[in-house]
Amino acid sequence: TLSDRLADTFKNLRGKGRLSEADIDATAREIRIALLEADVALPVVKEFVAAVKERARGEEVSQALNPAQQIVKIVNEELVNILGGETRRLRFAKTGPTVIMLAGLQGAGKTTLAAKLALWLKEQGRTPMLVAADLQRPNAVQQLQVNGDRVGVPVFAPEPGNGVGDPVSVARASVEEAKRKLHDVVIIDTAGRLGVDAELMKQAADIRDAVRPDEVLFVVDAMIGQDAVTTAQMFLDGVGYDGVVLTKLDGDARGGAALSIASITGKPVMFASAGEKMTDFDLFHPDRMAGRILDMGDMLTLIEQAEKAFDEEESRKAAEKLATTGDFTLDDFLTQMQQIRKLGSMSKIMGMLPGMGQFREQLDNFDEREIDRIQAIIQSMTPAERANPKLIDGSRRARIAKGSGRQVSDVNQLVDRFFEARKMMQSMMRGGGVPGMPGMPG
Ligand code: GDP
Ligand code: MG
Repeated sequence: TLSDRLADTFKNLRGKGRLSEADIDATAREIRIALLEADVALPVVKEFVAAVKERARGEEVSQALNPAQQIVKIVNEELVNILGGETRRLRFAKTGPTVIMLAGLQGAGKTTLAAKLALWLKEQGRTPMLVAADLQRPNAVQQLQVNGDRVGVPVFAPEPGNGVGDPVSVARASVEEAKRKLHDVVIIDTAGRLGVDAELMKQAADIRDAVRPDEVLFVVDAMIGQDAVTTAQMFLDGVGYDGVVLTKLDGDARGGAALSIASITGKPVMFASAGEKMTDFDLFHPDRMAGRILDMGDMLTLIEQAEKAFDEEESRKAAEKLATTGDFTLDDFLTQMQQIRKLGSMSKIMGMLPGMGQFREQLDNFDEREIDRIQAIIQSMTPAERANPKLIDGSRRARIAKGSGRQVSDVNQLVDRFFEARKMMQSMMRGGGVPGMPGMPG
């Protein structure tokens, strides 16, 4: 696996200040091979490797990880980033039925996926309806009906007498039917061809124009590997879509198609379909897919353990230091903030007392929410980070920002403010008097 090969590359390297150019080049070669083996499209491989090299050059060698682990961590983070970071959720219509349209080549797995998605939505308390707008293949409507029966979801299909004969009018009529019968989601299955052609694209685009879907999902077979990129691009130009569904992930495809499509189209992969059973279906998880593409699962577990052990060690050291030097930590800073808050909520009462009026303004201007924000940020830090804020480097800041729902700039500001406060505390302890409340927001 890539992890093993990187470990070999770095056998003799530990704790240098920065990775050397030669080490980075050797690493890049290994990553390149691994991505190509996973069937990632060449232009995507090139761009990805360049991004990883760039980051590897800029980063200090971690104290917690060996270089191979550190590179795997960077590679993993970049992969997860391209694959869409957090899972993207379906967007539901605010009024009327949510219309989801499926598009993709014949055999991609649309009809199967339509029923899986319907079941998944039904389990969340929705009342979906399936729509047979594939009138190309003789048994396509029947196939959808069989699948609909399996998941207990009604299928809207053209019938002699209901006056709809072509895919566009079926789709249009289905939305009206859904409104009448109070279905809150409409899933439109469309026709595919074996290859991309103009007629297919036009039909899909006509259906899209007729029903204005809330979501168009491009369904693609993960096994088609390199071809996925061309197909995804053609559908993007011809029909357009909001998200991607990967099917047949139960096969032995490594998932390179996911990375290629996400990278080239910029569209998120939203669902993953992995099997013939109606329940073989889930939201797409970028981190799991990253592990699968580069086969890094074990290494990532090791990395987590190594970082945790390192944090624990740091936290023990910091505790010792605190005991001997009385150092001021982020935990102390937070406690101080919370004390200020108590003072703030007392302000109303105090303001009524004679002689306290002079503090009124100061206390009124004090923003309570600011403390909530500070608290959220500090609580997203590990104990080691709170005890030793010097640990908080760029990637930790990004993690903390994410964990606390704030911007990296907020974390930066807090850390700066903390160091200021600490400086003030230290000068106070040396006997500089009381210069006011350190770290007071404002
Ligand atoms: P469509 O032409 O896009 O509607 O594709 P279908 O839904 O008819 O699927 C084509 C074939 O792929 C069928 O034999 C399905 O049973 C099979 N199939 C669909 N999804 C999956 C999947 O996730 N895993 C596996 N192994 N087979 C699938
Ligand atoms: Mg079909």
